[in-house]
Amino acid sequence: MQLRISSLYALFLGLLILCSCSNPKKTSATLLIHGGPIYTVDSTRTTVEAVATKGYTILFAGSLVEAEAYKTEETEIIDLQGKTMTPGLIEGHGHFMGLGYNELNVDLINTTSYQEIVDIVAEAVKTAEPGEWILGRGWHQSKWDALPEDAINGFQTHYKLSQVSPDNPVYLSHASGHAGFANARAMEIAGLQVLAKDGIDKLEVEGGEVMRDKLGQPTGIFNERAQSLIRKHIPENTPEKDRKAFELAVAACHRHGITGFHDAGIGKETIALYEQMKAENKLNVRLYAMLTGWDPELIEEWYKKGPMVDPDNLLTIRSIKLNCDGALGSRGAWLLESYTDRPGHFGHETLPMEVVKETALNGLRNGFQVCAHAIGDRANKEILDRYEAAFTELPDLKTDHRFRIEHAQHLHPDDIPRFAGLGVIPAMQAVHLSSDRPWAIDRLGEKRIKEGAYMWQDLLKSGIPVVNGTDVPVEPLNPIASFYASVSRKTLKGLPEGGFEPEQKMTRAQALRSYTLDAAYGAFEENIKGSISVGKLADFTIYNQDLMTVEEDKLLETEVEMTIFNGEVVYSKKE
Ligand SMILES: [Zn+2]
Repeated sequence: MQLRISSLYALFLGLLILCSCSNPKKTSATLLIHGGPIYTVDSTRTTVEAVATKGYTILFAGSLVEAEAYKTEETEIIDLQGKTMTPGLIEGHGHFMGLGYNELNVDLINTTSYQEIVDIVAEAVKTAEPGEWILGRGWHQSKWDALPEDAINGFQTHYKLSQVSPDNPVYLSHASGHAGFANARAMEIAGLQVLAKDGIDKLEVEGGEVMRDKLGQPTGIFNERAQSLIRKHIPENTPEKDRKAFELAVAACHRHGITGFHDAGIGKETIALYEQMKAENKLNVRLYAMLTGWDPELIEEWYKKGPMVDPDNLLTIRSIKLNCDGALGSRGAWLLESYTDRPGHFGHETLPMEVVKETALNGLRNGFQVCAHAIGDRANKEILDRYEAAFTELPDLKTDHRFRIEHAQHLHPDDIPRFAGLGVIPAMQAVHLSSDRPWAIDRLGEKRIKEGAYMWQDLLKSGIPVVNGTDVPVEPLNPIASFYASVSRKTLKGLPEGGFEPEQKMTRAQALRSYTLDAAYGAFEENIKGSISVGKLADFTIYNQDLMTVEEDKLLETEVEMTIFNGEVVYSKKE
């Protein structure tokens, strides 16, 4: 008898357990998403049928049948209707306010002729206040099919531009940031349209050049430091403009499926703005902000204060950005051997290397990650040396440092395995290859290009994650372009056939990781974001087509259809 009761009891208990398994105590899902391929970037289950969220976190990811157990009347259903979903994308190196100001100002990054620039400015004049400055950025004469007939020294002249904007001063920065283009009104305000002797003197600027025509008149092009002749007359940004730019940056991120953003170098004022925006519930992108190394006082202040890891996961500050060399285009990148197209010239460091060592030590002591910008192989090597020295000096503090090198564009072959060896994360913007590789070979020559430029696959194979991105506003924010560059190693025009140095291509899975989980790792955030896993933040990006399987030549037609941030739809493309 005794036995029977206990076995009955066991049976009952067993049934109870069974019931509670197959019919869980119902948690009501806020969102239930299903109906298309869902790539999780979670290695335990790379694709799922359905995802359920509760508030701002992921409640369930798996089969639709199981997900439906969380469905109640309150649950909002999103039927993907065949569209594709991934974790929310993370821009791994960009400039958030630069993006915002690009949106606020005239964006010329996609212009392909001088006439197009003139037309865009003519449009802007229509809505500008009387006398208001019209500012823009991103034009590049090498993207034009032809130079205008009246070009001087390879650049356009201001006359056409001045005609469409006679009363509004106009100043348009070159894509490189190393030159600017002004109209007559802007030059008049700057007092540069005088032909008298003292007028000519004004046009002489050390470290810069004002381009002039045969009569000595400025043509509108201001090179390098000559840009300040115009720039100093442009009114400073107002707090209202900053706020507007911020909001435009958030909107641009949502439009591109970006839910996280590594902001590569900000100062005091920008931090204050971000905190204000957070307080006003307007910070709807997760910002991982690096402190600018140009402000030692700021860095000292933060060493004392310590890292700020946001419990709301919106604004985290725990890293320091250093700028260690220039760019390859202007031959400022610091090389071990001289430039192929300028023998005897090696580029240069833009910061004493001792500062890198100091910052690495202080970073370890105070809990800050160091993110150093390096393009050339010399800059990369010197930084790795300094990081290594700091790790050797403070072995107990280096356990989870996650120091990064931003760009890591050109490496000496001996230094490639050092990244994985030291645990230094390369943050590389794949789209730079599409834009720069066609001419980078002139700077570096074939051997160095093959052995050390844009070495994504070698780095990944050596066992270190690669963080992707665009360096916006240097390149447009569009993550699809960088994804395409990652897997094709072609220009955005699809050249060359087969891609540049194809052995360095990423697989699509690697490229997606570099925009999600690996980017999260580069910010110590792989436990809360970067994959569709239970308990992580409910940030998702939905696309019009399956970017993981569509033919390569269709990849650039991928568009973001919907962005979900913190469990809420923040962007939905209008049909
Ligand atoms: Zn940058």
